[in-house]
Amino acid sequence: MIFLDAAATTPVRREALEAMWPYLSGEFGNPSSHHSLGETAATALAGARSAVAKVLNCRAGEVTFTSGGTEADNLAVKGIALARQSADPSLNRVVISAVEHPAVEESARYLERVHGFAVDVVAVDGDGLVSVDALREVLRPETALVSIMYANNEIGTVQPIAELSAAAHELGVPFHTDAVQAAGWLPVDVKVLGVDALSLSGHKIGAPKGSGVLFCKGRLSLEPLVHGGGQERGKRSGTENVAGAVALSTALAISHSEQPVQSARVAELRESFIARVLGAVPDAMLTGHRSQRLPSVASFCFPGTSGESVLLELERLGVLCSSGSACAAGSDAPSPVLVALGIEPETAQTAVRFSFASSITAAELEEAAAAVETAVGRVRNLASPQAG
Ligand code: PLP
Repeated sequence: MIFLDAAATTPVRREALEAMWPYLSGEFGNPSSHHSLGETAATALAGARSAVAKVLNCRAGEVTFTSGGTEADNLAVKGIALARQSADPSLNRVVISAVEHPAVEESARYLERVHGFAVDVVAVDGDGLVSVDALREVLRPETALVSIMYANNEIGTVQPIAELSAAAHELGVPFHTDAVQAAGWLPVDVKVLGVDALSLSGHKIGAPKGSGVLFCKGRLSLEPLVHGGGQERGKRSGTENVAGAVALSTALAISHSEQPVQSARVAELRESFIARVLGAVPDAMLTGHRSQRLPSVASFCFPGTSGESVLLELERLGVLCSSGSACAAGSDAPSPVLVALGIEPETAQTAVRFSFASSITAAELEEAAAAVETAVGRVRNLASPQAG
């Protein structure tokens, strides 16, 4: 099998597994316990926090461990907006882009439904990019928070986060970015990006599912969403997933150190894969920005097919990929991300996303491109048998 669905999830890296193992077995303490076993766990958690902070170039106290990217996004969007609104009730709007992951979009909708916020959605262009001008148009004095993702999970388009966050800051509005797909492929220095909050997910970078991080700048208050024993400095109660945090910090540090080399290598492979696919299926349409895209994502629409059918054919041919985001897969609705790019719903139904792990090889992508040609041909023949 050739696994081209790394944007959905990745296997746990051996180093992460080895680093977490002690905290699942012998050193199983609760970090809140006042005995040696508990202290060992607390020390491990503090070490994981410092390691994450080092990669993000922030203070350890600004790192909150969560149960994943979804929770980190929820905590950022709801937590920052609600805390700001309770300090200043006139702050009752949030800005998101039209291509956010549901974890951000649904958090904003929750604020609208339950807390009376208005949600301003910044449009994207045909490549999925948010422009600074488009953002400026929707910013208001009442905007409590802007949340725009770093890199899109379906089309791989990378947003100009530093410029967008600077535009929000001109009006004193804090800026959150969902960096779940960017981590491991793009620099995640929060000072260079100029962001006030940033979400990460462990399972996209070689740590287990159910581990995540929210960076939130020290001076920003955060209304907690999970109440209880006050762990994570009161920002996220619940006994910490020590092993998950250790694994995430290990995987993040390794992927960060390998990032420049891996990104360059995989971007080159992605380019030849795109060229092969466009050569083999001339009417295929690459979705997302041509160059401002993740090294690891190549996404297409194959007119005259259905994305789900191409996916099934590809699996028969030994290639695992996705018809969009893992969350939307299996749903009949066209991807809101593709529709936001201006793609017709019928064409959006023909989308297939190929996303690569850092271990991907040229040979695997050669084989996958040939499989794409076969799969699309088979699906088209089934759709119109008289055509051949
Ligand atoms: N944000 C983006 C951009 C994602 O791609 C994902 C997962 O697909 C998430 C958030 C959610 O992360 P998790 O699966 O850790 O909850």
